[in-house]
Amino acid sequence: MATTLLEVTGLCVGYGDVRVLHEVGLVVKRGEIVCLIGSNGAGKTTLLRALSGVVRASAGTISFAGESLIGLAPQQIVRRGIAHVPEGRRLFAGMSVRENLLMGAYLRRGARTEIRRDLDLVLTTFPRLAERLSQDAATLSGGEQQMCAIGRGLMAGPQLLLIDELSLGLAPKLVGELGQALLAINRAGLSVLLVEQDVATALRLANYGFVLDTGHIVLADPTALLAKNPMVQEAYLGRAAVNA
Ligand code: ATP
Repeated sequence: MATTLLEVTGLCVGYGDVRVLHEVGLVVKRGEIVCLIGSNGAGKTTLLRALSGVVRASAGTISFAGESLIGLAPQQIVRRGIAHVPEGRRLFAGMSVRENLLMGAYLRRGARTEIRRDLDLVLTTFPRLAERLSQDAATLSGGEQQMCAIGRGLMAGPQLLLIDELSLGLAPKLVGELGQALLAINRAGLSVLLVEQDVATALRLANYGFVLDTGHIVLADPTALLAKNPMVQEAYLGRAAVNA
């Protein structure tokens, strides 16, 4: 049976006096793709930011590979094996694709063999990046920028990849391509926590899902069950609930 990689319990996070997450609990097992779905402003990005140490929790626990992450700085969390692909990609403009990818490995100085191996893996996973290594990252298409952002995350050598809005602003064909890449990376052993507004895509890619509603986890189930859940169908898949 798969062991627990990430376990969050009772997590409360806010900005100033405004509480955004209310006693959130969530688990990611090793080797899983888990999705977190919910409408705009539900707190999905805030949860990823709390996991990567960018915002502080006011209460609760975050355990990763058996160790508490509470109070750790973002770079300490990256070193422990969590990489965050932020919403909007946030690539470094004026820097090449290669430089952007290597920025992901900046905390691994000295690990040259591993960095070279991971760069090869990224370029095999995303051959379009291999063709554009010297190009300014700002001139990439939206889909290529997302590949570069995921590649930069992979260059940190993570055990868990947090992805905020894989599909945002991308054509369906590209979303399909990125989804296939994500499944391949996952098969190679990486666990993924995916925040996604495109709920159909999220449910297709993930094994397990959590539904966040105004800062509360309201549903947690294998994605095969979530896809059949009338509440999910009506609220997130745009299908009218069928009355029995
Ligand atoms: P979206 O998909 O629209 O990004 P989300 O589910 O990711 O939504 P968050 O971005 O986590 O939601 O935002 C949750 C709430 O926290 C929102 O009400 C938002 O306005 C608020 N919020 C987010 N960031 C900040 C901030 N830096 N300062 C104050 N409030 C914030």
